[in-house]
Amino acid sequence: MAYRIEDEQGQEYYLSLQGGTLTLSRESVANYTFDGEGRPHGAWIDGLTYRRALDNRVLVKWPGGPGQGRNRRFLDDNERRHLFARIFSDVRGIGEAILAPSARQPADFPMEVAQPWLQRVLSWDWSKLEAERERFYAVYKPVPIMPPDQYLAVVFQATEGCSYNRCTFCTFYRGRPFRIKTAAEFREHVQAVRSFLGRGLAMRRSIFLADADALIIRQKLLLEMLSYLNQQVAILSPNLTRAERLQFKRKQKSWFNGIYAFITASDVLRKSAADYSDLATLGLRRVYIGLESGHDPLLRWLRKPNDASTVVKAVQRLHSGRIPVGLVLMTGVGGDRFASGHVQDSVAILAKMPLTKQDIVYFSPFVPDEGSEYVAEAVVLGVHPLSRADMLVQETIMRRQLRQAGVQAQFSRYDIREFVY
Ligand code: SF4
Repeated sequence: MAYRIEDEQGQEYYLSLQGGTLTLSRESVANYTFDGEGRPHGAWIDGLTYRRALDNRVLVKWPGGPGQGRNRRFLDDNERRHLFARIFSDVRGIGEAILAPSARQPADFPMEVAQPWLQRVLSWDWSKLEAERERFYAVYKPVPIMPPDQYLAVVFQATEGCSYNRCTFCTFYRGRPFRIKTAAEFREHVQAVRSFLGRGLAMRRSIFLADADALIIRQKLLLEMLSYLNQQVAILSPNLTRAERLQFKRKQKSWFNGIYAFITASDVLRKSAADYSDLATLGLRRVYIGLESGHDPLLRWLRKPNDASTVVKAVQRLHSGRIPVGLVLMTGVGGDRFASGHVQDSVAILAKMPLTKQDIVYFSPFVPDEGSEYVAEAVVLGVHPLSRADMLVQETIMRRQLRQAGVQAQFSRYDIREFVY
């Protein structure tokens, strides 16, 4: 619900209390969002969009020129300090204006919620926000990547790292030995995350079981972990009627629409359809697989742990266990050398999968990491990168050919540079 407030001079402000966040805006000049603890979450100022991570880094985004997409970078310390100073100073002014006795508020303005929330916002300052970094890293290992529909998830790290960790293009978990937490460690981690997020949990809508390979955990332990999550938080059942869903959401302070996780295609095949069905009963709603390409020579060059046909088997297995999939395809990977095989075989392999409207195919423009083996090996093999425009052409061709082939899945863009947790 958004409330319009006017001050004595007729200046307009908006206050919204939706989705577990407090949003304040001043005419069309600035807009700020805070979590339930009052920590800044996002801001829009003079055409720039800012997103604060839980470790107090800030990503700023702004529109590029025609056909160039968005620009983005992380702010340096000085810029962050200035940004937070501006936000708190502006919020102090907005707060004074909208809570003043002379302000014109709507009759149903929720003063009893808005006032303490604003006080919580103003209890933060630069040094308290900076101290959040230490609190964050006492609870979490860095969270480098998530699927784009999970950016508002709460992350619980049941494992650390990737059990494979050898794809040439991926540096997300390098230097992080793979390990599976014990049931006791996981319970402790869940409690630590809840205490760190506090009232900020209410703005999160799903649960992401991290790191890269959490579903590799042997079934008995995984069921124990998911059962524990079900005892601790409210997970929405997909079988409720519309009225029951509304009632569920009204009753819960915070609720989640399900549990999600990454997995490799070969690891999917370690569990049976019945195992996945049991995980679905405990709230597992979708798993994400890095298909990357349907072109086997390219997959071998990328040193993926599986070929493309394994992904078809993995999707069949997951569907038999009532789990939809998110498949990530990297446009531009393999550069000019692999381009035609990449497009042709990716379309062919996706057309062989039993994808439905519950599944998602992500087109993720390839972002080479300069320190990766991929970049070094591309020089040796003479692989030249595709331009952003060429990647878009690949995406357009694949989308069209996939629809022509009758693929029903949803399609979505996935830019990994947009992510902060
Ligand atoms: S399996 Fe996934 S997380 Fe692991 S190295 Fe490959 S791309 Fe990275």
